[in-house]
Amino acid sequence: MAQNSTIEWTDATWNPVTGCTKIGPGCDNCYAERFAERWRGVPGHPYEQGFDLTLWPNRLAQPAQWKKPRMIFVNSMSDLFHKEIDRSYIDRVFAVMESADWHVYQVLTKRSSLMLDYVEKRYAGGGVPDHIWLGVSVEDRAHRSRIEHLRRINSRARFISFEPLLGPIGDVDLAGVAWAIVGGESGPRARPMHPSWATEIRDICQRDDVAFFFKQWGGARPKSGGRLLDGEEWNGFPTHIVPEPILDALRS
Ligand code: SF4
Repeated sequence: MAQNSTIEWTDATWNPVTGCTKIGPGCDNCYAERFAERWRGVPGHPYEQGFDLTLWPNRLAQPAQWKKPRMIFVNSMSDLFHKEIDRSYIDRVFAVMESADWHVYQVLTKRSSLMLDYVEKRYAGGGVPDHIWLGVSVEDRAHRSRIEHLRRINSRARFISFEPLLGPIGDVDLAGVAWAIVGGESGPRARPMHPSWATEIRDICQRDDVAFFFKQWGGARPKSGGRLLDGEEWNGFPTHIVPEPILDALRS
């Protein structure tokens, strides 16, 4: 099941919301905040308001305008399940993802209980469409409850980002999770990742049949420490959850 990708994706980010507030140690050195705050007060700049939570309804049409399938990272500069985002607005974001269904969307959150609650109501016991990948970000053992929330979502396309990995996760059941990504922190205040934290997750992924991707060690710059784990690259990608029509379109 876990295999490397042979797909040539065009990657894209789509930010119908920007800005956020911190909810855990994984947020301490938030890249999005650092980037956005550089532009606070610059008239006319998209981040003139810095990292304040801001809705951008004029961006909702973007995915429908991209005709070629893309792997779209939703809200790379925010968290779609932030408690101050109105449910009606999240509805609009999901409606776009459901209708522009030739793309794959990655929705990553730390507000896992709110995501669970939202999708349970939206899909009323039915499954989330395969092209909408729902993921949680988990930085250490103390935040493993996010994994439990994720595993309760009725979806084949569940993923976990262990980035920045700040401590050991411990033994955890990842059965039913499609993809796990591990990465160390990058930036001027990067906290180091111990190799055993990463290898522990890799071993659990192998046991539980989860595609495993090792992104980077991190450091002052993302590429500072390279991306070899135990002397190998780990490029697992869950091709099996990419809907067939999208795979066909990408191959043509
Ligand atoms: S949840 Fe994500 S976007 Fe929000 S502050 Fe934390 S790291 Fe940044």
